[in-house]
Amino acid sequence: MLRVNNLEVKYGEAQALRGVTLAIDRGQTVSLIGSNGAGKSTLVKALMGMQPVTSGSVEFEGNDITATQPTERPELGIALVPEGRRLFKDLTVQDNLLLGAHHPAARKRSGGDISFVFDLFPVLGARRRQLAGTMSGGEQQMVALGRALISRPSLLILDEPSLGLAPIVVDEVFETIKRVTAEGVTVLLAEQNMQQALSLSDYGYVLAEGTVVLEGTGGELLASEEVRRAYLGGV
Ligand code: ATP
Repeated sequence: MLRVNNLEVKYGEAQALRGVTLAIDRGQTVSLIGSNGAGKSTLVKALMGMQPVTSGSVEFEGNDITATQPTERPELGIALVPEGRRLFKDLTVQDNLLLGAHHPAARKRSGGDISFVFDLFPVLGARRRQLAGTMSGGEQQMVALGRALISRPSLLILDEPSLGLAPIVVDEVFETIKRVTAEGVTVLLAEQNMQQALSLSDYGYVLAEGTVVLEGTGGELLASEEVRRAYLGGV
């Protein structure tokens, strides 16, 4: 479904991605793990078209989308849950969710219907009139996920969904992500929280200093000594 070929990104002189190659098949949950500064966010931005690439290509469902505008990517079926959630805290849960359906293609796909999201996360239905800013951290992440899912994307990209949350809330967020993957949505999960990310992933890539240093099934990577070293920046 998604193929990234030898992708390079530079910020001026600084090279943030050095030839990243990876693939995601339909229905898979794939983790992108790596420590601070490894290049996860840069790769996510490049996939969303928010960061110009220096060389290499991104293919989605067989089409080269390397030069596709960021505004067009959601219409292709790619949705992002951004780092930090970026909710409108003074808007209700329902209004935040509906903001995910503003693309014409998304509206066509979901029919402006948020029942899919409410079925998946009943708590959001029960609290739909509550202001998003008054929800707990875990619930806010659920709103951010629901907002992305309302367009019924074929690929959902999550950028560090557990960042800045207390451990108990992190567990809640991973439970929420499991509910999404159980629906068969293809997921790319960029995370520093290697243990929990890999334990729900079919496959994973370890990024260090802008390149893929290891890859394997979630189980293989979890069992690997090398992963721990790479994760700590030692490769
Ligand atoms: P984090 O978890 O801290 O976000 P990350 O794995 O997502 O880490 P990136 O944010 O992609 O890493 O950063 C990769 C490299 O690119 C780092 O060395 C970072 O300092 C650099 N970088 C990121 N954004 C910029 C920018 N706008 N200008 C210059 N350098 C940048």
